[in-house]
Amino acid sequence: MPSITHHHKHHNAYLILQISMALLFFIIPFIFKIPQNISSLFFIGAFIIAGKDTLLEAFKNFLQNKWMNENTLMSLAGIGAIGIGEYPEAAMVMILYQSGEYLQHKAVEESRKSITDLMDLRSDIVYKEEQGIITNNKPEEIKVNDIIIVRSGEKIPLDGIIIEGNAAIDTSGLTGESLPKDFFSGDEVLSGYININGFLKIKVLRIYKESTASKILDLIEHADNHKSHSERFITRFARYYTPIIIIISFLLAVCPPLFFSEAVFLDWFKRALTFIVISCPCALIISIPLSFFAGIGGASRKGILIKGSNYFEALAHCRISVFDKTGTLTEGNFIIDHLYPVKDITPTYLLQTAAKAENTSNHPIARSITKACRKGQDLNIYKQAKEISGLGIILRTDKEEILVGNHELMKRHDIKGIFNNNQNTTIHIARNRKYLGYITVKDKSKEEAFEAISQLHHLNIKTIMLTGDNKEAAQAIANQLNIKDFYTNLLPLEKIKKLEEIKNKNNKGTVIFVGDGINDAPVLTYADVGIAMGGLGTDAAIEAADVVIMDDSLLKIPLSIRIAQKTLRIVWQNIFLALSVKTIFLLLGALGMMTMWGAVFADVGISLLAVLNSLRAFRN
Ligand code: ADP
Ligand code: MG
Repeated sequence: MPSITHHHKHHNAYLILQISMALLFFIIPFIFKIPQNISSLFFIGAFIIAGKDTLLEAFKNFLQNKWMNENTLMSLAGIGAIGIGEYPEAAMVMILYQSGEYLQHKAVEESRKSITDLMDLRSDIVYKEEQGIITNNKPEEIKVNDIIIVRSGEKIPLDGIIIEGNAAIDTSGLTGESLPKDFFSGDEVLSGYININGFLKIKVLRIYKESTASKILDLIEHADNHKSHSERFITRFARYYTPIIIIISFLLAVCPPLFFSEAVFLDWFKRALTFIVISCPCALIISIPLSFFAGIGGASRKGILIKGSNYFEALAHCRISVFDKTGTLTEGNFIIDHLYPVKDITPTYLLQTAAKAENTSNHPIARSITKACRKGQDLNIYKQAKEISGLGIILRTDKEEILVGNHELMKRHDIKGIFNNNQNTTIHIARNRKYLGYITVKDKSKEEAFEAISQLHHLNIKTIMLTGDNKEAAQAIANQLNIKDFYTNLLPLEKIKKLEEIKNKNNKGTVIFVGDGINDAPVLTYADVGIAMGGLGTDAAIEAADVVIMDDSLLKIPLSIRIAQKTLRIVWQNIFLALSVKTIFLLLGALGMMTMWGAVFADVGISLLAVLNSLRAFRN
């Protein structure tokens, strides 16, 4: 019956010692047939040894005026029993209570451990190579750009880039994807992946603390710092519950003997004490945080990082899912469709001019243009290039000014050009205020996008797409994916406004936003739940988001909603189980059909059942 606050206070060994000492005191009077008045001393001794922490805790809480918890109830029951001379009962109640605490403590600890173990992402040793010599190191000792060796069967300890070798890699620890994928020299690998069959040399990209595996474990370990509504429900509940129980038990002890001559005060006083013992809401207090913990663990095994238990409710009650287009619904791998230079300009010059401005940008469009141009030549890097979110790029040097971006960017700079509508995303280029032509680029929707959207529709969730792209390109994707509502030509700030509008119009349930963080990181924070694509997404997005999808798969959106719904179902089952069983036992107690020992056993039983039920949240 540990409360959230005194979870980690005792070591198991301490609890075992305490319980055995108390038991020893308890049985000595029986073994040596000690006369009654002396044996009482042994029972009181056992009571104090077993109940010491509970009594102290209750006293401390009382001083801080936080007396409304199970320690108060247990202490009242125990002291009351001593008061009426039921020494063995008082001792046994405390011993059982403490044993229950031990058992539940152990159950919670074991379950947490098995959950973290199953997500075994951490490595203990890293093999570093330096001038042909391989040394064993702790992961914390490795620096960025160190070269590390990962042999077949080993876990990749830090995020990095393969510089030699290739291998089939099991990414399931991070993505939940059970089929291994092939990785080659030049590919980025994340800590927590397992190298199945290759010999890899990896250049480290991020130190241990910033590597993916540490970040995930960190998130999970701190996830229950955020309390959800259901947890607050328990705190609120305890505030009313404890005084109500105390009042009822007081009435139970006092009223019947007052009004019925045949009622014996001692009998009813004992019933009142039993009533208090039964009332402890321990099952709720331990099972609710554990359910959320298990839910977070279960989700992360599928490659979904949920950053706190408070997001479960918002996810489970999702009514509208808003998507960013580029990089979220689409692959974000643009390929050049066609070049349309104006007269006197060659296609190569058009492309080169665009690439000159784009090559410092990380936008998927920029990358496609730079890649197409880089074939065969190196590009100069111009640090002056300025990215204008949702519009394009401006590069100003001593010699020239280059504009690369959409129609809106051209309008803002008063450039006259060819602005007809095109099925593809259209990028216009101007140099020194002269329009050079445009490039059309193509992106495809992600393979699983259609399936993911229809699963969401099945869950009765409306889908909406927002994009900074033009209407025609957006229409094509929306038609393919069966998305009815979409809004186009939106700047990042307008995306926030649109989302606010959608949220305000919606009066049932919550609104989630799914984005890749390129030009939409602020939107992520405005949604009830912001979901970021972790693979393609930027660090800013992963920071801003409440939920991160490690492998960018859109199918994880409906899956995370189903996991949240299941976890909440389990939480409510536990609340219902605990409260209904409690009610029955409380009635039995009030009617005198329940002993104090029975009451303690019943409480431990329900708590363990609730813990077992909580663990189901881990398996999805
Ligand atoms: P989305 O909302 O679909 O994710 P963005 O907001 O990232 O799209 O971009 C919106 C539009 O702005 C793009 O379709 C493109 O026309 C233009 N744009 C943004 N960044 C760039 C860039 N680096 N180069 C060229 N065009 C850009
Ligand atoms: Mg985007």
